[in-house]
Amino acid sequence: MEKEKIKDLYFDKIVEINDYNKAYYNQDNPIISDYKYDRLKIEILNLEKKYKFLKSKLSPTKTVGYKVSGKFKKIKHKIPMLSLSNAFSENDIVDFLKKVRNFLKLNNDYKMDIIAEPKVDGISASLHYVNGQLKLGLSRGDGITGEDITLNLKTIRNIPVRLKSLKFPENIEIRGEVYISKKDFKNISNKFANPRNAAGGSLRQKDPLKTKKIPLQFIAYGLGFVKEKSFKTQSEYLEQLKKWGFKVSQRVNVFTNIKDIMKNYIKLENKRSEIEYDVDGIVYKINDLNFQKRLGYISNSPRWAIAHKFSSTKGISKILKIEIQVGRTGALTPVAKLQPVNVGGVIISNATLHNEDEIIRKDVRKGDVVTIQRAGDVIPQVISVDISKRSSGSKKFIFPYKCPSCYSKVVKEFNSNTKKKDAITRCPDPNYSCQAILKEKLKHFASKDALNIEGLGKKVIDNFWSNKLIKYPYDIFNLDLNILKKFDGWGEKSIINLKNSINKSKKISLVRFIFSLGIRHIGQENAKVLTKHFLSVQQFFETCRKLNINDQNYLDELQSIDGIGTSQIDSLKKFFSNKQNLIVVSNLINLLDVENYKSPSKKTPLSGKLIMFTGGFEHKSRSELKSLAENLGAKIVSNISKKTNCLIVGSQKPTIKKINEAKKLNVKILYEKDWNKIIN
Ligand code: AMP
Repeated sequence: MEKEKIKDLYFDKIVEINDYNKAYYNQDNPIISDYKYDRLKIEILNLEKKYKFLKSKLSPTKTVGYKVSGKFKKIKHKIPMLSLSNAFSENDIVDFLKKVRNFLKLNNDYKMDIIAEPKVDGISASLHYVNGQLKLGLSRGDGITGEDITLNLKTIRNIPVRLKSLKFPENIEIRGEVYISKKDFKNISNKFANPRNAAGGSLRQKDPLKTKKIPLQFIAYGLGFVKEKSFKTQSEYLEQLKKWGFKVSQRVNVFTNIKDIMKNYIKLENKRSEIEYDVDGIVYKINDLNFQKRLGYISNSPRWAIAHKFSSTKGISKILKIEIQVGRTGALTPVAKLQPVNVGGVIISNATLHNEDEIIRKDVRKGDVVTIQRAGDVIPQVISVDISKRSSGSKKFIFPYKCPSCYSKVVKEFNSNTKKKDAITRCPDPNYSCQAILKEKLKHFASKDALNIEGLGKKVIDNFWSNKLIKYPYDIFNLDLNILKKFDGWGEKSIINLKNSINKSKKISLVRFIFSLGIRHIGQENAKVLTKHFLSVQQFFETCRKLNINDQNYLDELQSIDGIGTSQIDSLKKFFSNKQNLIVVSNLINLLDVENYKSPSKKTPLSGKLIMFTGGFEHKSRSELKSLAENLGAKIVSNISKKTNCLIVGSQKPTIKKINEAKKLNVKILYEKDWNKIIN
């Protein structure tokens, strides 16, 4: 063929593919099938390969058909994108099912359907379709707020820009996992540690052209918000997703008993290597969507699902030394520093040895050859020692009796629940002055679930700390960042970015604020409970600081909060009895804009009311009734006081003492039937 004719043919195809791109990317209206599109693309690429003189800016090797995106916009998820609780054994699954059944108050003979889906090890994303058109694509972000990565997601060929089939809800959010198949990963494995990193890295590229170069795929499995749905179960939803043009996993099954669940687990784990993408476990979900709605959420994960992780990947290495790390709560953790070893695609050079008892039990020593294992995001651990490879001069490891940081005598606390000494050795840090603990607290304060200060990660904090720039959380806000110009690796841009993220972090919810203080026993769940009770940072601070003046009223108030027990109260008391902690908290209150808690539900007759439950209930479990009341704005208390608005009495074994107390204090008493009428 003569040159001009070849050029004509080539440019015709280029024009044609760009029309399709325009329809697909800019008008959300694909006018050609994926198969035909790919054929056309291959034809163009073949022509370019054969005739080197063919070149076009519009070639599919150079364009994705739309503009490069700027910085990602942050957008709040309509329904949070949470993580999943993990199960590692059959017992964990049995426990999970028991809790679900109890919550839903199901009869023993009720056969509850559990759907088992492979847990795709990729990056989750959410897709919003309005009238069947893909309008917005978000990353999970911190679970509450995601990033607008619509353009990048649109480069993934198996994400439909328009839902196929005619029937779809007017408004629906479809969730799933972006991943790279194992086969495709082979071609880029020199650039990334594993397929998950590759997927994450390319999905967040500022330039969708770069995203497009990585062969990403999408598998759908989840539902966010939806306006009027026609499906009642997760399995019906998955069928619907297929009809709309999504890829869904083929290895999905519904079970009603633990035996079949475990059989499937073993089968899938054995077949793991045959699956085209990385799978790190199985997700079990309660199939009935109405049950899912009733079960709702706990702090970070749904009550209606759990991830059953596959057993971990193992490796062998040598212990170079054993280090003792002091954590935020004073726990002394022995860590094996290892000769770096590749375990399942990740280079491991540290592994936890847990505690002194574990070291004694396994007789782990410096210089030992050990087997280590890594499971998902869990910290790698040393599981056994190969004694045959031990050198004759090796010495037993002696656990320190003093904190390696502040030299206080370490302690093992007595656990009043187990009536035994704790396995964990702690630095008691009597004056809240242990430097290692202070540093770890700073890391916790800036971390993702607390202030979420981007750019102030663990290594940066180590660096600032050793240069004596920061000591207490409030120092972060008073720091003159221009000083960083003298530091290696800090340019104008990174300083501005850090300034911005520090400023941004100043507006913070009360839950995050309480959690960020790093008070022992006050994790995310308890921070939430305290937030719902106190509503404002001032209330929280005023009550907690008065715990030490021995006024029974303040103690009573905390004791009445459902979910807060002796260990939490003791810990709050101890924390707020320290002068330096009081300075930290009051400075932070002045520097930050801590938002008051607003009940998510609209104003209801139960808003702000203090409700207490006693006894078992006939139709719904006590847990479900509590969660319903909370959703309607009530606060659940566990002790009767004058302030309690109402005691709800179940027909099964209510505590008579509580009823009498309520009568004495003139607290309104309602029985199950009346209560059901109110909440219905
Ligand atoms: P993790 O990040 O380990 O807490 O696991 C939770 C994540 O698993 C979710 O956020 C999803 O991104 C992912 N995931 C993968 N496959 C599924 C599935 N079939 N159902 C629900 N979540 C899944």
